Amino acid sequence: MYVYSSGVLVTLVMCGQLPEVKVIIVGGGLSGLTTALLLASAVATNIIFKITVIESRQRLGGRIFSSTGFPVETDSYYVAKDLGAAWTWPSHDKNLGELLQQLNISLKPQPSCGSDIYFDASNGQILQKAISGWQQGTYRVKHEIGTYHIIQRLQEQLSHYSKSQEGTSVQIHLEEQVLEISKGTEETVQFEITSDSRSSGPSKYLADVVILAMPPKLAISSIQFTPNVPNPLRNIMYSTPTWMEATMKLVFTFSAAFWRKQGLSGSAFALRSRSSTASPFSQIWENEEEQPLDEKQGEKCTLASLGAFVFPPHSTYLQHKTQKEVLQYTLPHLKVLYGEDAETCLVSFMSHNWSQEVFTSTSTSTSTSHPSTMKGVGHKLLRQPVQLENKEVSTSRCLLLLAGTETEEEHGHMEGAVMSAKRVVAQVQEWCSTLPSRE
Ligand SMILES: Cc1cc2nc3c(=O)[nH]c(=O)nc-3n(C[C@H](O)[C@H](O)[C@H](O)COP(=O)(O)OP(=O)(O)OC[C@H]3O[C@@H](n4cnc5c(N)ncnc54)[C@H](O)[C@@H]3O)c2cc1C
Repeated sequence: MYVYSSGVLVTLVMCGQLPEVKVIIVGGGLSGLTTALLLASAVATNIIFKITVIESRQRLGGRIFSSTGFPVETDSYYVAKDLGAAWTWPSHDKNLGELLQQLNISLKPQPSCGSDIYFDASNGQILQKAISGWQQGTYRVKHEIGTYHIIQRLQEQLSHYSKSQEGTSVQIHLEEQVLEISKGTEETVQFEITSDSRSSGPSKYLADVVILAMPPKLAISSIQFTPNVPNPLRNIMYSTPTWMEATMKLVFTFSAAFWRKQGLSGSAFALRSRSSTASPFSQIWENEEEQPLDEKQGEKCTLASLGAFVFPPHSTYLQHKTQKEVLQYTLPHLKVLYGEDAETCLVSFMSHNWSQEVFTSTSTSTSTSHPSTMKGVGHKLLRQPVQLENKEVSTSRCLLLLAGTETEEEHGHMEGAVMSAKRVVAQVQEWCSTLPSRE
């Protein structure tokens, strides 16, 4: 049914006495899932939210991802690792900290004992060894699966809303890509969302509120908007770099933290040239000690691992290479820094190349720079409701918002993703306050 509120026509289904608002969240990464949870638990709103999260990948989490390793010699070592986000800085990440507390997730400090290696990026040779203390204040999620535990806990919390017929509900659709968002006509006034599901084929949804919880550049490059997103915002979305989209993350797992015996922390930093580099590594660090997940042998074995970032041009060169090929390309450089033990103690290896992930990186990506040098992220227009250019239909009848870490001034890290979720939930609540209330 349609009702008038604050002088505008709003599409509303009345469920009992409470208005029902249909919300589509595009993207099941940290920002999308946090938005869904905050909205579903926003008890004060006097609104029933029917929320659907549409996620294109076959897994949730987006740039938070853990996986099993490729065993070097035996098939007994499969260890889950953070191949996306890993660290948080609690003194700074206040919004993420609140979420972690709500989800009952503990942190542990990034290991730090011994000297870090500084090496020349242009030839991979060691320049000096010194204690930097960069690990101070850096923490990781305390769980065998790492940061992905945040996604698991969010999913668990959201599952409480999955069965509700009458109240607020949350449905999650995996392997379904949103392709098109059209603004309704005078008759339908809602958004029409067209998607393609791997299992059920093309689908159409109507929604009062659409939240794009994905990188703005990816959204504008891969979703067709009818009418179009206005030019100023369109240009900003195209030029907003996606954090870490050109990066590759590697994890080398060893039978022991052999570097500690050499008085090393496991950390290494590339110095000098970032553009012409012989070494593929820009930074290496020690991951926490691990227990293998597969304990069917009955033995618990303490492992240790080194994580590493690889940026362009190496990550571009390594696109679509097998794990074995990536290992062959990178291991000789690791041996230069850590010695023969880097090969003899190696038990498993894994890598993830984000530059070849179509639901993170865009084909228009030309980024060759380190993410810390990125400009143009967090523009204020990204935080305002998107006004699709349809002169016949007033935009206040439905709401289109952008979430995701790139939309915030505090962009890039998980903190930005959680901040964006809080912001869009406040915006939806404000929009809802124009709807008729219980009375
Ligand atoms: C290698 C790497 C290391 C990082 N390290 C850290 C770190 O140590 N600390 C830290 O705080 N942050 C780190 N980050 C950043 C952190 O991962 C991100 O800030 C955060 O995960 C972003 O969440 P998001 O929800 O904004 O976006 P995303 O995680 O990108 O989520 C967007 C979701 O939208 C989905 N999607 C895309 N297109 C469509 C479509 N058309 N239809 C439906 N779904 C779609 C995607 O599959 C994805 O699941 C790192 C990132 C990477 C890649």
